[in-house]
Amino acid sequence: MKTWIKNPLAILADNNSGGANAGAGGGIVIDGSKIVELVASGGQPTMPVDQVFDASRHVVLPGLINTHHHFFQTMTRAHPSAINKELFPWLKALYPIWARNVKPDAFRLATRLALTELMMSGCTTVSDHHYLYPAGLENAMDIQVEEAEKLGIRMTVTRGSMSLSEKDGGLPPDSIVQDDDAILADCERVLNKYHDRSDGSMLQVALAPCAPFTVTKHLMMETMELAHRHDCTCHTHLGETLDEDAYCVANYGCRPVDYLEELGWMNDRVWLAHGIHFNDDEVRRLGHAGVGVCHCPTSNMVLASGHCRTLELEAAGSPVGLGVDGSASNDNSNLIEAVRHALMINRLTYDAASVTHFDAFRWATEGSARCLGRDDIGKIAVGKQADLSMFTLDELRFSGAGDPLAALVLCGAHEADRVMVAGAWKVEDTMPVNMDVAKLRHEHGEAAKAFLENI
Ligand SMILES: [Zn+2]
Repeated sequence: MKTWIKNPLAILADNNSGGANAGAGGGIVIDGSKIVELVASGGQPTMPVDQVFDASRHVVLPGLINTHHHFFQTMTRAHPSAINKELFPWLKALYPIWARNVKPDAFRLATRLALTELMMSGCTTVSDHHYLYPAGLENAMDIQVEEAEKLGIRMTVTRGSMSLSEKDGGLPPDSIVQDDDAILADCERVLNKYHDRSDGSMLQVALAPCAPFTVTKHLMMETMELAHRHDCTCHTHLGETLDEDAYCVANYGCRPVDYLEELGWMNDRVWLAHGIHFNDDEVRRLGHAGVGVCHCPTSNMVLASGHCRTLELEAAGSPVGLGVDGSASNDNSNLIEAVRHALMINRLTYDAASVTHFDAFRWATEGSARCLGRDDIGKIAVGKQADLSMFTLDELRFSGAGDPLAALVLCGAHEADRVMVAGAWKVEDTMPVNMDVAKLRHEHGEAAKAFLENI
């Protein structure tokens, strides 16, 4: 079945060029799950097509890719115990609430809600860094796989972990961490069951100790060994706050990047969440090793964590992707909004001419794909997966806009009109095709009430 997405209002078909349309002004042809032709402005497909989708109202982007989130945190958005705090006190306020209440049913609803919310904002591939394992939630990865498959979104399930807790001088309560053996056994189980490295894969697995300081050195090193053996990516939080720098120097006698190197984690399987507080030498070393960084602009502003050095990291060789981060520090899961925030905070870091909407789009698409170790998604090009996010400019906020691609970012697009994953429509007329959104809103809201009790 060949479909011509015909004559879009605008299309981002070359994320790097800085030029719109890039030879695809007449749209694209999709065959099955792949893009098979770019059609020049005013042109016709060279091959016969079975159906035509008139995209003359749509701005077409590669499907957006989210590379950092904690879905369970959707249960504690704008939580009165946590608002208006920086990272460490914010975590200390929330850990006991999560420890008491993140149970399988609530976790399933949190996952469903975050996936749906992301998809409605134009996201076609997600990863979720899940590191919380209270008793009873041992099958967290299986729940996430079921929910992603039901919705039809592409996912990297990220098997997180914590093995150091309050009894070891760490921040998390004892009840939400596991021991190294249990963690490694489940990592291996999940890899064997779900990790698919094939072209166009709908499901991959990454391994993700929460932070190098919430697990043992042994676990960090064994996790990387497992990743080499199963050819998967690895993820962790690093360089988020100055508190973390001070903690690392006090407890490990070195800075976080030095510790990462000591653990054998300076390689291109790794992408880091946040990556803010790196000095020039560390940026150079991370870039040289090909370590990716997921920039989380909204979270960095909410928690006042700082400015990610996106342009220097990219120039040094690091892939830079984009993430909404957990919903308690954002507090939503809207990726196209994060694109706008990325443009804004990076203009404060650099200047107005050095950071454009094309940079922000690149981080949310091709950069994120590279963080996840993928080259089959993230770009509208022949041979890539047909993952698309399509926006109309019909709302009042866009009226009078000149440049359609710039308008998405500058006027503040917040919902996709159409989303396609692997050649199939998953959002139509702003609504997901496989989900009762009103029912989900009700059920999730009810489940979240427990997280407000006993505070
Ligand atoms: Zn995070």
